[in-house]
Amino acid sequence: MDRPLYVSTRGGVAPVDFNAAVMMGLADDGGLLIPAAIPDVTSKLSEWRKLSYPELAYEVMSGFIGDAVPADDLKALVQRSYSTFAVPEVVPVKAVGKLFICELFHGPTLAFKDIALQFLGNMFEYLLARTKGKLNIIGATSGDTGSAAIHGVRGKAGIDIFIMFPEGRVSPLQERQMTSVPDANVHCIAIKGTFDDGQRVLKELFNDMAFKRDYHLGAVNSVNWARVLAQIVYYFWSAFRVTEATGASSIQVSVPTGNFGDIFAGYMAKRMGAPISRLILATNENDILSRFFNTGEYSLGKVVPTLSPSMDIQVASNFERYLYYRLGQDAAKVRETMALFAKDKRIIVPGKDEGFAAGRGDTAMTLETIRRYYRESGYLLDPHTAVGVAVAEQYAVEGVPTVCLATAHPAKFAATIEKALEPGLAVHPTLEALKALPTRKVLLEPVKGVIKEYVATTLR
Ligand SMILES: *Cc1c(COP(=O)(O)O)cnc(C)c1O
Repeated sequence: MDRPLYVSTRGGVAPVDFNAAVMMGLADDGGLLIPAAIPDVTSKLSEWRKLSYPELAYEVMSGFIGDAVPADDLKALVQRSYSTFAVPEVVPVKAVGKLFICELFHGPTLAFKDIALQFLGNMFEYLLARTKGKLNIIGATSGDTGSAAIHGVRGKAGIDIFIMFPEGRVSPLQERQMTSVPDANVHCIAIKGTFDDGQRVLKELFNDMAFKRDYHLGAVNSVNWARVLAQIVYYFWSAFRVTEATGASSIQVSVPTGNFGDIFAGYMAKRMGAPISRLILATNENDILSRFFNTGEYSLGKVVPTLSPSMDIQVASNFERYLYYRLGQDAAKVRETMALFAKDKRIIVPGKDEGFAAGRGDTAMTLETIRRYYRESGYLLDPHTAVGVAVAEQYAVEGVPTVCLATAHPAKFAATIEKALEPGLAVHPTLEALKALPTRKVLLEPVKGVIKEYVATTLR
């Protein structure tokens, strides 16, 4: 078996293998790591159709990992990562009205980020055990990513995780999903401030080179290549399930998009040869990406809060990976374009990518879509999924089934479901059980010195 290599979108990193790419996270030159070559898997599709989700995950991933991780180790690691999901299929695909819904929310925190973070947590633990290394993950969250990251690494050897969240500004449910985790390596820090204060302190900690080195700081943000890799799998999986069910030769996939991580995985799957004719990019009112795919202009707007908070993002951290391919895999051009964006907050990319359609689903459409699908099909959409469904409806094509990725369980956003319909419809036993669990957190000032001191004493 060979060993695939990774390069930076900005061309300033000597090629590294998968293991080094996972531990590096963000590329050392400020760019993002991407595979030096994308495997063409068209000859394997008929075999892959027959596989279970973990078997398929192993096949897809091994093409990007090669002998950097021995086959038996990777198989066991993948099995373990998806055994925490509540349903045997891991990712069920259901016919709902004229669409198919691919349910990505059966992991421990009921959101699609579990698919990547359950795998990444196990991969970190595995790689650290091999090098006898240590990793201290520090993150700032406004809600969902923090809990998925905590559940990905809880109880893992060699890892401690510190998550900062703004006291009183995340929903009680989101807070409980973090603070009720009893493992000794999990440290929840409520900060006396806003999400932006958390982000600022985080940046200051990572810019403190001595601290970063001495304390082996790491991040779990959505730019880690392992997260994209784990997400490629369900594009193949849903394409197989839906082409089987309908007899169609390809599908289109609608993706509720924030940081462009999920849909970039779809772009990779399509380039590898998955039977996907088109990707439909759906944003809420924070529509920098849907504007880009419709006009070629990528220009920064102001972040506005919506009913789909995990998509309330303007600068999409994974967009640079796509830009690299769009600019002909020319790292110098990427460097130049990103420098221009940093300066002007606006770039223009000529031409159009026919592999994408894009649109925006606003608050009214989100509520209307949740209401209509519940009344007509008895199916509850969470507000993020509803944005994807609302946009997908505008791009229906005769003979090509549409799959909508469902990125969260509706019970995580019960207030919005109540607004659209009525109280008491969106419930989940895992979330109900949280209410009775003891919680732990410390309350600290959002000041670099204070957080540093807390990390140091906790680890001592
Ligand atoms: C993170 C998230 C998204 C957006 O995914 P990206 O990879 O950032 O585009 C959509 N829905 C939910 C529920 C999420 O948690």
